[in-house]
Amino acid sequence: MTKILLTNVCKPYYNGDLYTDFFTYRSTIEDCIFALSGMFSCFGLHFLANNLDTPTKVVEFPSKDDFINELKEGYDFVGISFSTIEMERLKEMCLIVRKHSPKTKIIIGGPGVQNKYTKLKTIYFNPDRHADYVCYGEGVNFFRKILGLKPKNKINYPTNLVGETTLLSLKNFTPPLPSIMKTGYVYTGLGCNHHCIFCVPSAFFKHHINLNSAEELYSIIKNIHSVILKSKNY
Ligand code: SF4
Repeated sequence: MTKILLTNVCKPYYNGDLYTDFFTYRSTIEDCIFALSGMFSCFGLHFLANNLDTPTKVVEFPSKDDFINELKEGYDFVGISFSTIEMERLKEMCLIVRKHSPKTKIIIGGPGVQNKYTKLKTIYFNPDRHADYVCYGEGVNFFRKILGLKPKNKINYPTNLVGETTLLSLKNFTPPLPSIMKTGYVYTGLGCNHHCIFCVPSAFFKHHINLNSAEELYSIIKNIHSVILKSKNY
C-alpha cells in the first residue's frame, strides 16, 4: 500500500525555538506582560493526512537526522511544506531524499511555492534533482489526483490537535507553570476576498472558498471543544 510522509522543513530554524511559537513571533508585537506564547502543530499537514485515505505519517519540526531515519521506513511520497525564507533548507531536504530514498517521489507545497514563476522554476523544479511535483494552493485534491483517488468534497477535520498557550512572561518559571489556555484549530475556508497584493492565500485561491456549511462548522467546533475539555490542565 502507498505510504506517505508529510513534514515541514528541518531544524535549525531561522528564528530558533520561536519557530514553533506562533503567538510570539507572528501575533505578538510588543514584549508586554500580556504577550502570549503558544506551541502550535502544523495544522495543514494534519489536515492533508486526514483527507488522503492512505497511510500517511506527519512528522513536525524534525532534525535532519530524524528526517533521514524516517525515510528509512520506505515512503512512496514525501510532502514537504516550506515558506519562502526556507528555500535553501528545502533544497537540502530534497537532496537528502534523493540520496537516502531515491525511489520516493517528492511533493513540495506551502507558502514558498509562491515563487514558482521565478526562483522556484529555475532552481528547484528540476525533477532529476529536486521536487517531482509542486503543489500550488489547495493540497488535498492535488495529492488525491497524484494518488489516483477521487476528488474529495467533504473535508475531515483533525479534531484531536490542541495548542498550548500561556503568557510569555510566565513561560520561563521553574517549574514551568501550566498553560493558561488550550486552543483548537478550525479552518472555515481558503483564500480571502480582499486581494492584498502581498498575500499568499489570496494569490493561491483568488477569492474566499467556504470549506463547510455553518451547521458543519458548528458541529466541528463542538467536537474540538469536547477534545479540549478532556485534555490535561484545562
Ligand atoms: S488578502 Fe491576505 S493579507 Fe489581505 S486581508 Fe485577506 S488574508 Fe489578510
